[in-house]
Amino acid sequence: MNKKRFFTLLTSVLILIGTIIYTSSSVANTTPIVLDTKYPQVEIINKTNPDNDFSIKYPLFHMEKIDQIILSYIKKWNNKPIDITYNIVHYSQQTLSIQFTEQKATQPNHSTTHTLNINLSEGKIIKLADLFSTDNSEDYLTVLSDIAYNELKNNENITLLNKELKKATAPTLEHFHKFILLNDAIVFYVKLGDDIKDLQLAVSKNLLNDMLIDQYKSNDTNKDIVEDSTPANLVTELPKKELEIPLDQKVIALSFDDGPKKGTTDIILDALKNYDAHATFFVLGSMAEKNPELLTEMVNQGNEVGSHSWDHPHLTKMNDQKVKHQIDRTKSLIQNITGIEPTLFRPPYGSFDQSVCDLLGNAEVALWDIDTEDWKYRDKDHIVSTVMNNAADGRIVLMHDIYQTSAEAAVEIIHQLTSQGYKIVSVSELLEIKKHRELAA
Ligand code: ZN
Repeated sequence: MNKKRFFTLLTSVLILIGTIIYTSSSVANTTPIVLDTKYPQVEIINKTNPDNDFSIKYPLFHMEKIDQIILSYIKKWNNKPIDITYNIVHYSQQTLSIQFTEQKATQPNHSTTHTLNINLSEGKIIKLADLFSTDNSEDYLTVLSDIAYNELKNNENITLLNKELKKATAPTLEHFHKFILLNDAIVFYVKLGDDIKDLQLAVSKNLLNDMLIDQYKSNDTNKDIVEDSTPANLVTELPKKELEIPLDQKVIALSFDDGPKKGTTDIILDALKNYDAHATFFVLGSMAEKNPELLTEMVNQGNEVGSHSWDHPHLTKMNDQKVKHQIDRTKSLIQNITGIEPTLFRPPYGSFDQSVCDLLGNAEVALWDIDTEDWKYRDKDHIVSTVMNNAADGRIVLMHDIYQTSAEAAVEIIHQLTSQGYKIVSVSELLEIKKHRELAA
């Protein structure tokens, strides 16, 4: 019995000693775990080798597939002369986006950005094409290219030539493959050249919503688990289409009031289309309501739709409430039919005052330079000669698209102006060209 007891005791003591030795040695071999300050569930791994100028910091999530993706990126830099740091820019229920900054020892003044976006439920890397539902990559790349070009052009710190900007932002996958997904925005890192820091371009998801697949639209599963940050210089508006008209080209704007009307407006639209010309139609709400398809056709051809009130009253003889009704009702109708809010308003009889202007909201008053008085003369040749005798660069012509004689005159006018070297534009295009000319002068 004593022997048995002795052995039991001895075994227990040995196990205890063994445990103490094992525990203390394993403690001694473990470096303290460092956690990410923003996301405490993430471990930071820091590897260095001063002999090789190698230093690398990366996060581990202790989720097998995710860590594998990160490690396979890290592996290729092992013991190379580089300094890599990371930033978890976004971490939501659905996605994880990490930005790595690679600083090569041989290029101390220049760092490169590498991005990793991971679909957490599938444990897969998200590529740009995965975000969009369209089969045609030209669609979203064209939008991104337009946005990027416009931002670069207006960025004072960038000194590239125009053709270099066009090249750097051309709509190819290669230019937009580095990105970070946020809940409301996508941040791109656009490469401008070998020695230039990548341009950070943040684009609101709203601008891409009709192409993004539902999963990646802004929603609760894409909310950051800590806090959503708004990126710097977020682009929230699509760039205006660039004017393709040379600044030294003669331009003239044709405007047509009181329509649209079937049988006459169509004739003018056909002529504009044939000569690649644009006009502004100042429509009456009461007429537009009867002919919505003519408004759609106007916009489809690149023409402009302005407002001319609901039913042509003398606005200066009305109270504010009635004026506001004339303006707002017409504006909503135009917007409902065409999807575009009119920015120009032509008051009936050209009569307006400050209180009319105050009720216009974002729109502005647009008058004219050449009055054909086509409503009075109803004579094709008279209307044509009035316009041609007074035509000059930068002028706005007033006609009415509800008369047969005016429509026939318009066809002839469009033909003659074009053969005299005029580019026929809408009123807004004319104003835009004048603005560009002033800037260039
Ligand atoms: Zn009128």
